[in-house]
Amino acid sequence: MSFINDFLSLIYPRRCEACESILFAHEHFVCNHCRLSLPRSNYHLLADNELQKVFYGRVPLANTWPYFLFEKSGKVQRLLHAIKYEDQKELARYIGAMHGKELFQKGLTENIDVIIPIPLHKKKLKSRGYNQSEWFAKGLGESISKPLDSGYLERTAFTSTQTRKNKYQRWENVEGIFKCLRPDELTNKHILLVDDVVTTGATIEAAHLAFKEIEGLKLSLASIAFAAKLR
Ligand SMILES: [Zn+2]
Repeated sequence: MSFINDFLSLIYPRRCEACESILFAHEHFVCNHCRLSLPRSNYHLLADNELQKVFYGRVPLANTWPYFLFEKSGKVQRLLHAIKYEDQKELARYIGAMHGKELFQKGLTENIDVIIPIPLHKKKLKSRGYNQSEWFAKGLGESISKPLDSGYLERTAFTSTQTRKNKYQRWENVEGIFKCLRPDELTNKHILLVDDVVTTGATIEAAHLAFKEIEGLKLSLASIAFAAKLR
């Protein structure tokens, strides 16, 4: 079997999803160089980080953990493109596992009760075939040994929060985008919300609105990337 795999990799070499160089047999999805040099935010080491500031006065978040910092035309953008549009869900899971491992090693994830990915609208889910945030959350959950549950949050509106231009419009449109199912089970729980890219924070704000009546609820946020410069 490994002979066949080696033979196939001569004809169809696997390439790094970030820089396109040919991967060695022991490398998965990204080459060693990219794995070590991709721009991590390391926000889990900074209490008062730039993403926390995005949510000041809007959403109380216990932790804000984006894995990468997004740079336009950079390697992170290439990874996100592959994850979103090229059916690379296993890449999302792999990155989730890397992120989770780093959080776990610092002992930051012990009091998380459940991981909830930001859902896609069912029409979008049907056309894409998978939810990239859910696959990232899956890898993250596996590496921190916490349960993932996609059944708590439903996207009821088929609108994009990304396209809203100003803050006023965002406030008008985020209410009612998500609906919390089985809210009673979430009393006094610590939820780790998971999204792919956080930019304006509007999506997270909308999700927070769906949870806001729940007593004793604590929210944290993890994402593949934070696009600070696009705001
Ligand atoms: Zn590479």
